[in-house]
Amino acid sequence: MDYDVLIIGAGLSGIAAGIRLAHFGKRVCIVERHRLPGGMNSYYRRRGRAIDVGLHALTNCAPPGEKSAPLNRLMRQLRLSRADLELCPQTWSDTRTPAATLRFANGIAELEASVAAAFPGEIDGFRRLVEEVRGRDSLALNLQPQSARQALVEFIREPALCDLLLMPLMFYGNATPHDMDYNQFCILFQSLYLEGFCRPRLGMAQVLKLLLARYEEGAGELRLGCGVASLEHDGRRVTGVCLDDGTRLTAPAVLSCAGRCETQALCQPAVPGETPAVPGELGYVETLLFLDRPPRELGLDGCVHFISETPVFHYARPAVPVDLRSMVLCCPGNYIGCEGGYADRQIRLTHLADGAFWLAADTAAYAGTKAAVVESQIGWLDQRWPGVRKAVQEWEMFTPRTIRRYTGHANGAIYGSPEKRRDGTTGLENLFLCGTDQGFLGIVGSLLSGVSIANAHLLR
Ligand SMILES: Cc1cc2nc3c(=O)[nH]c(=O)nc-3n(C[C@H](O)[C@H](O)[C@H](O)COP(=O)(O)OP(=O)(O)OC[C@H]3O[C@@H](n4cnc5c(N)ncnc54)[C@H](O)[C@@H]3O)c2cc1C
Repeated sequence: MDYDVLIIGAGLSGIAAGIRLAHFGKRVCIVERHRLPGGMNSYYRRRGRAIDVGLHALTNCAPPGEKSAPLNRLMRQLRLSRADLELCPQTWSDTRTPAATLRFANGIAELEASVAAAFPGEIDGFRRLVEEVRGRDSLALNLQPQSARQALVEFIREPALCDLLLMPLMFYGNATPHDMDYNQFCILFQSLYLEGFCRPRLGMAQVLKLLLARYEEGAGELRLGCGVASLEHDGRRVTGVCLDDGTRLTAPAVLSCAGRCETQALCQPAVPGETPAVPGELGYVETLLFLDRPPRELGLDGCVHFISETPVFHYARPAVPVDLRSMVLCCPGNYIGCEGGYADRQIRLTHLADGAFWLAADTAAYAGTKAAVVESQIGWLDQRWPGVRKAVQEWEMFTPRTIRRYTGHANGAIYGSPEKRRDGTTGLENLFLCGTDQGFLGIVGSLLSGVSIANAHLLR
């Protein structure tokens, strides 16, 4: 055998699993199709600018002293230090609909005070919900899915408050339209509200540099720019891994962060008896506006705003290319310590999008719709924060087509399939999933996923 474990994809979960396995003496190789590591959380340079593909916030920003907090546990497991990552905490963020605005910061106190002020009749139920989330082990790998909207009825009667609480959690990690899994709700409630947001001061380039240094210290091997073309199997086990350049590799175990239906598609022929995974359909567009000044000089002084312009928050694939009714608005330079840094003059705006449109559009429709969307976004911002239009110098937009092109995810869906495989198993006994379709989402979630699946299946 060429390796002990072969990992498909240098997404954050694949890299985290690789660090863990290499540290414990396994011969590991990560095979990545793209020329850069990081998957959906990578970075690139354009005209001298460092640009993060997807970095609004690193979640789970618990104080360093809380030893059992997920971020601190993860740091120990990956042998990283918070000081190396230069984590900058948020000032404040909010979630707003026409019904109310709830402000939150790191730790639950500010959100609790906002709920008490805007929904005094709901504060007891909200406090019970907080206690319930604190007491649950939502990271266990054997939990059954359950509707969050149904579970919330036990705590909160006011639908407007449910929508305000759900909106940030759905935007930051939900593959299911209209509702979300209650376990995922609890994980994200802890990540966003009980703990909170921070940002690595130098962005994803710095995070990836540190992660790959740890991987190399364990003698892990990384092959960039050459993907896995197919997986050979005998109906029970993977027997060979064929790369795009024709190389054939062997390993007793294979771990994939490419996604569940994407990994199934690599198995040739299809695995007998395995149910085909349902591809995700929730697409996003993300616009980066580059300004001539920090947005806080125009009055934008929060870190992340989750906004629905309609009283009911609609979380589903829209019937139009981009759903402008709701959004995430992030000002990366407003984190404490990021002022003056590489992202200080950026605004990031995220909306739900119809992946089918963006994947099928011809060149003219693609470019024309992008320009029209950006024009609407700038107009919207300028109405609320006068001066934004004049300050915008350049923009970039990522669409579901960008995501599919650079990560291979079906439909360009960031959060993958709505059916998660929490235990990471597949129809083949030595093929495992980590990352997006295992079910732990986001930067911290995908790192945790890689570590958990390596521990559960590959280090026993
Ligand atoms: C625009 C955007 C903004 C985001 N913002 C945030 C944020 O602010 N905070 C946060 O916590 N999360 C954010 N996320 C989500 C976060 O990026 C993801 O949840 C996380 O990075 C997923 O990691 P992963 O390990 O599951 O794999 P992925 O990142 O999906 O990586 C999979 C990798 O596998 C590779 N691959 C696929 N097929 C093959 C093959 N056949 N052979 C070889 N390689 C293959 C791909 O090229 C890719 O590199 C954002 C995502 C996007 C797209």
